Amino acid sequence: MHPIRIELPTEFPVGPVNVYLFTHPQPVLIDTGVRTDSSWKALLAGLAAHGLQIADLAKVIITHPHVDHFGQAARIAAHSDAEIWVSPLGEEWLVDTAISWQKRINYYRDIFLPKMAMPVEMQNAVLNFMRFSRETADPVPASRLHIFPIDGGTLTFGGAEWQTVHTPGHASHQTCFYQAETGDFLAADMLLEKTPTPVIERPANGALRARHDPSLPRFMESLTAVESLNINRIYPGHGEPFDDHRTLISRQRRRILRRKAKTLTLIERGFDTVSKLVNEMYSHYPSTYRLVGLWMQVGYLDLLLEDALIHEDIVDGIWRYRAVK
Ligand SMILES: [Zn+2]
Repeated sequence: MHPIRIELPTEFPVGPVNVYLFTHPQPVLIDTGVRTDSSWKALLAGLAAHGLQIADLAKVIITHPHVDHFGQAARIAAHSDAEIWVSPLGEEWLVDTAISWQKRINYYRDIFLPKMAMPVEMQNAVLNFMRFSRETADPVPASRLHIFPIDGGTLTFGGAEWQTVHTPGHASHQTCFYQAETGDFLAADMLLEKTPTPVIERPANGALRARHDPSLPRFMESLTAVESLNINRIYPGHGEPFDDHRTLISRQRRRILRRKAKTLTLIERGFDTVSKLVNEMYSHYPSTYRLVGLWMQVGYLDLLLEDALIHEDIVDGIWRYRAVK
């Protein structure tokens, strides 16, 4: 069977999130929505439309541990015997949710935001957004968790075998699910109508930035990997399902390369901090809503750094960029 889309509300700029239901041979849910009462009611209604209740769910499979995708997993677990499945890279966020958030917020507060020379009010807006996000997910008891291989594994649901495809970029721990016979692809936030944001994560090794694993370069690689699959239909984490993933991928890739080139031009003209670049590249966004722009901008810099087209130095505690002559 094909995935059944249930759209659940969120209070985030991205808008509603999709969860996907498989009714046979046993009820399985992909992702959960955020932990809010309106999201819970919408999930109950979505299940009821197929004659199901929360207690009927046998499995909940999490594509990646972002709050809009796993926020009410714990509430589902409390109202059912459902197994909660996640990849090894997502486990920590599901079990140690508060600690994971605190580590990320500390990293943004102490290192990432100050080093970009962001105005204090913008730094506070970003931190407040993260604190708000933190409140929309509960931790899942470790005893309820089951782990699937993040890449090259298989999971059986909806009467078919799905391959797990690791697609880092939007998140380092994102998995998509591919059904080779039907060509159905549960894309989570890997393929969206609008290019997904490369969310900057705290480097695991205590480095200032994840230089070995920056988000946008890995996203570009994931685009190429997904492009090669014979996909018939994309079931994204947000918005309507769609076909023709290759047209979408080449459009998004072209745009990213254009923005990367523009970033280099601006650096050559003297825009030497992330703050200056974001204000120039994203002047059409309200200042409180520039986190998305910030992630993209750091991504363009990461692409230029990987190509050795720019230098990065820390001067007076701030990351500064110059073109390689
Ligand atoms: Zn996400």
